[in-house]
Amino acid sequence: MKILYYHYVRPDPEGLPNFRYLHLEDFRAQLDMLDREYGFIKKQDFLAAFRGEAGLPEGAVLTFDDGFRDHFLHVLPELKKRNIWGIFFVSTGLYGGKKKVLNVHRVHDLLGRHGGVVMLDALRRLLSPEILAYEHVEEFQMETYVHQDNDQATNDFKRIINYFIAPGNQGEILDRLMLDFGDEPALFDGLYMSVEEIRALHDEGMIVGSHSVTHPVFSNLAIDDQRTEIVDSFAFLDKTVGGLEVKAFGYPFGHKHTYTEETMSLLREAGCQMAFTTGNKDVVRRDIEEAPLELPRHDCNRLPHGQASYGPHRPGEFADIPAGART
Ligand SMILES: [Zn+2]
Repeated sequence: MKILYYHYVRPDPEGLPNFRYLHLEDFRAQLDMLDREYGFIKKQDFLAAFRGEAGLPEGAVLTFDDGFRDHFLHVLPELKKRNIWGIFFVSTGLYGGKKKVLNVHRVHDLLGRHGGVVMLDALRRLLSPEILAYEHVEEFQMETYVHQDNDQATNDFKRIINYFIAPGNQGEILDRLMLDFGDEPALFDGLYMSVEEIRALHDEGMIVGSHSVTHPVFSNLAIDDQRTEIVDSFAFLDKTVGGLEVKAFGYPFGHKHTYTEETMSLLREAGCQMAFTTGNKDVVRRDIEEAPLELPRHDCNRLPHGQASYGPHRPGEFADIPAGART
């Protein structure tokens, strides 16, 4: 079984000349390819395998991270047309409070709108030694960030935000950059599904899964905070859709070091039946029987037609580029 994961899927990068997304036409081409090469697993067969009522089904399963409006507007109609289904992971802390975009998505928007060179320059002006993560100050000062092209500057911008700035200061720095370079309320409404859209997705036969409350790195959290992230997000979704048919969880950021054994115990305790990571491997029978809370998924970028790219581009423009050559 091949489980794939997707993020942004849209027909064009409206207003975001440097934004990285999978073109809707390429998404369609990838679905054609998956159908041809592997076929899609039926939802009933997938769920039956986890209940131990059936063997490992062969084929592809689609998952979509971060609760993007893209998924409601562009993905759902495409799946309905083909009579297939998907799992959609939503971070529930986005709802019911201030319209605050997750830090990881503010970074995508800022870079998409203004490009790496402009944003790196703005970020460097805001940096002071107190804001840098103490253990990395020297390392940061040794790096040079001059004469950069957009791609290089984009990588450096992300690296500084994610690695050199102390986690407690990341929000504050991005607050400042959003005030100067973004439009947070407008971004929020365009970026994420509404509660009604989440409900509609479920009513159309899709699985809505938890992507935590606040999209943290679980391995950085105390146990009680991890538990709250899990329990509260499932409670919100259960209420929103009027009863979840299965409790599925997508680890934020997804890589192996972002969660721990304790995270998995808490998921088990919360009645979660399946949880998804990354890793670009097929799911085998053993995974379902022995490690259903660590199911590997394939990055759509690694398979034909799934290559996301920056800025306005023609469908298929990057389809033939070998996997991993341009990420
Ligand atoms: Zn995510």
